[in-house]
Amino acid sequence: MTFRQSLDQIAPGVAEATELERERQESTLGMIASENHVSQAVLESQGSVLTNKYAEGYPGSRYYGGCQHVDTVEQLTIDYAKELFGADHVNVQPHSGTQANMAVYFAALEPGDKILSLSLSHGGHLSHGHSVNFSGQLYNVRQYEVDPETGYIDYDDLAAMANEFDPDMVVSGSSAYPREFDYARIGEVADKNDADHLADIAHVTGLIAAGVHSSPVEYANFVTGSTHKTIRAGRGGIIMCDEEHADEIDSAVFPGAQGGPLMHNIAGKAAGFSEALTDGFQVHAEQVVANAKTLADVFQRQGLSLVSGGTDKHLLLVDLRESHPDLTGKEAEELLSDVGIIVNKNTVPGETRSPMVTSGIRVGTPALTTRGFEADEMKTVGQLIVEVLDNPESDIVRDRVSTTVDELCEEFPIYE
Ligand SMILES: *Cc1c(COP(=O)(O)O)cnc(C)c1O
Repeated sequence: MTFRQSLDQIAPGVAEATELERERQESTLGMIASENHVSQAVLESQGSVLTNKYAEGYPGSRYYGGCQHVDTVEQLTIDYAKELFGADHVNVQPHSGTQANMAVYFAALEPGDKILSLSLSHGGHLSHGHSVNFSGQLYNVRQYEVDPETGYIDYDDLAAMANEFDPDMVVSGSSAYPREFDYARIGEVADKNDADHLADIAHVTGLIAAGVHSSPVEYANFVTGSTHKTIRAGRGGIIMCDEEHADEIDSAVFPGAQGGPLMHNIAGKAAGFSEALTDGFQVHAEQVVANAKTLADVFQRQGLSLVSGGTDKHLLLVDLRESHPDLTGKEAEELLSDVGIIVNKNTVPGETRSPMVTSGIRVGTPALTTRGFEADEMKTVGQLIVEVLDNPESDIVRDRVSTTVDELCEEFPIYE
């Protein structure tokens, strides 16, 4: 009888890889801006019997029997989210941030309608209308960019583009733009053009929940987010809107874009949201931003160039072209990975290399802050990164940095 066997008995290769992944997370410095470490409570929720339950529909109105307890779970999740974000209506069922965006497009647009969004190479996201994504295939997309001089979004240009393009939806939000969006301004542009404003807060869900980043809730018709980046609620998505759009959004998620909700993930969201309602989470979120600013400071003192000259949030975008013209983003990612510092290569505004090579790296502070890193540790990490980039050929530097990374990881364990 296999039913009661453990994972290492049933699929030993998977159990082993999972254990190795746990060790990898403990023994490296995770600086991918979209990643984080969730709590025991979130892990517990996601590994629970809730995964067994079908619950198509919404609390109190399901297509299956036996939903009384998952109704409680989903309603509590919604209540926590409403309290966190001050939204009128919340849907916690999207399987991911992309699914959340899909549901908003399905609710608000017809195929062929026009979307104005930030270009991927200037910090946007695939699901904002890129040609390899359904959003670029179903809709007519025009994209705004950042000012090549300042690295900030040029809102006058955006407004002029909107006047000319006459979009049905204007999207704010990004994956690699280090500055806050002016949600009020984008809301105005959308209003003026009779368009909806979708604010995609995927990266900053936690910062907004904690009140350390401005909230688009009052300036956008729809707000979508992911639940696994700066908020530590496990992998998934969320949609917020006003009462007026509630039914459209709910039917666009189910049955429009998805089948049964992942109740175990919804429970994870509840756990993460409940944690985010504590004062401790606000202190954490402030530290996330403070750590990013400390890192920006170290980088700039050491001659690295940052897109927009710094950051307002949890991530930095390093443009290597001036300081390290011969080093690509891909090489920088590999060099850092070799010493246990995990970042991702990233295109920069005005990119001349391919997206698989790039001229930049994106560096984030959420996961390190979760481990307990503060200013002193961030200064050390910043120095280590600069040393590696400055000495790509040196085994001595590589060994020395690796040793310091090991020491930091041991001093700041995640789960042990
Ligand atoms: C991460 C992200 C998403 C969601 O991504 P998923 O991987 O589908 O959860 C959506 N929009 C933006 C801007 C993002 O950065």
